[in-house]
Amino acid sequence: RIWRATVLTLFPEMFPGPLGVSLAGRALASGLWELEARDIRASATDRHRSVDDTPAGGGPGMVLRADVLAAAIDAAGIGPDRPKLLMSPRGRPLTQARVVELAEGPGPLIVCGRFEGVDQRVIDGRGLEEVSIGDYVLSGGEIAALALIDACVRLLPGVMGKEASGTEESFSEGLLEYPQYTRPQLFEGVPIPEILTSGDHAKVAAWRRAESEALTAARRPDLWARIPSKVPSDVPKRR
Ligand code: SAM
Repeated sequence: RIWRATVLTLFPEMFPGPLGVSLAGRALASGLWELEARDIRASATDRHRSVDDTPAGGGPGMVLRADVLAAAIDAAGIGPDRPKLLMSPRGRPLTQARVVELAEGPGPLIVCGRFEGVDQRVIDGRGLEEVSIGDYVLSGGEIAALALIDACVRLLPGVMGKEASGTEESFSEGLLEYPQYTRPQLFEGVPIPEILTSGDHAKVAAWRRAESEALTAARRPDLWARIPSKVPSDVPKRR
């Protein structure tokens, strides 16, 4: 079965958007994955097709109505095997580990919030898993959904060419990636580190590991704390 993302949004015209170009776009065009963007407003029932209302208890902004959103979710006909996600700054932060899981499954339903968010009763009643893409607030869930789908799609079989691989990059081993270099050999007086052009694969691997560890320890102490065998190999002092 083909991996599919079903997106519920008030702005279906935002899809595929940037996912229609490059790696993801070529894969979409060649049928390696599918994208369905469904308009939440199509499930509105009143004369004005309204989808939001003022927050109970007062306060600024509007809230996506539970009845409209629940009807939109039900109309999407999502099987019990597919994860049902709600993009939300209150959600659990998205990790590469969760992305791998989502890419290995049949593909999620993704609800994009707008306004001040969605009525809690639809989150609870439809069992939505809240997912955040970071500790900042976007104006809607669409850009967050695009980010999540992009991260999944590049891991699908056949999407990444040989030139790229999901197994040796940031977070795959709980570490940030080592620095990369390419031609020219000399750029503004700075050469490529000699080891990388030595042809000694073992030395290259050791250098990369040490750089990865140094970067992770310096920039992401939270990740570094989770590495089981912290024997920093020859940590370079650069950072
Ligand atoms: N009032 C909400 C709060 O304080 O948590 C923020 C609502 S935000 C303006 C509107 C919608 O954008 C949210 O319902 C969610 O779908 C999406 N969104 C905003 N920031 C996000 C983030 N960091 N990760 C995932 N989705 C986000």
